[in-house]
Amino acid sequence: MKQEKQYAVIGLGRFGTSVAKTLHKMGYEVLAIDSNEDKVQEFSNEVTHVVQADSTDEAALTALGIRNFDVVVVAIGEDVQANVLTTLQLKEIGVSYIVAKARDALHGKMLQKIGADRVIYPERDMGQRVAYNLVSSNVLDYIELSPDLGIVEVAIPQILIGKTLAEANLRAKYEINVVAIKREEQLMVPPLPSEKFTKHDILVVVGGIKGIQGLEELT
Ligand code: ATP
Ligand code: ATP
Ligand code: CA
Repeated sequence: MKQEKQYAVIGLGRFGTSVAKTLHKMGYEVLAIDSNEDKVQEFSNEVTHVVQADSTDEAALTALGIRNFDVVVVAIGEDVQANVLTTLQLKEIGVSYIVAKARDALHGKMLQKIGADRVIYPERDMGQRVAYNLVSSNVLDYIELSPDLGIVEVAIPQILIGKTLAEANLRAKYEINVVAIKREEQLMVPPLPSEKFTKHDILVVVGGIKGIQGLEELT
């Protein structure tokens, strides 16, 4: 049987806490690490293992067997130096997959140079999603795949109600693909071309920003 992946999360701020709790909820083993004793106490009932340690200290990380984890998330926020040093130590130790949270583009660049396998920008990304949400009342969620490609969830525009997916002709008109239709509790993946849109449908669409905007402007 395949061994379940093991995760470690360093830094129990709002972001790290959320990552660790969610992984735990999904049934994974999570080691949470923070240098602050109060944070460790507070979190002790929430995940599998919580330890107090300074993650910039290579010996402390080694003692925790950090090398054996499949994925280590560096979620330290404010203290950029601690964030960068921690990432460097993890790289030196030979952790196979390091995810690091960056405050801004320069910080992100630095993390990439050090060898972080994935750099994330939670504030920037959430900001984008909120902005897309505000601009169009139809848009429920937005995930950027690349600067000009995204996935959106949109409420069905009035004009498409009663039409089939084939009749709507979205692929040709906007170069977008409907990957799923959410209808009440039902999730239709993939949707049939003969499927008629109904009033409360939510479309999950992947495509270029221009095409997505075209769809959003339909009412
Ligand atoms: P968020 O926006 O996610 O809340 P934040 O920017 O507010 O993040 P911080 O409070 O700066 O996050 O840091 C998150 C956690 O990282 C804190 O609980 C802090 O104690 C911990 N931390 C900071 N430095 C270290 C370190 N060297 N080793 C381990 N944990 C650390
Ligand atoms: P993020 O995690 O998104 O970076 P943060 O919690 O670190 O957010 P803060 O530094 O607390 O963010 O505040 C964000 C901005 O809000 C700052 O530029 C700050 O100057 C501004 N700000 C704080 N209080 C006020 C206020 N009363 N009126 C106007 N601006 C404010
Ligand atoms: Ca913050």
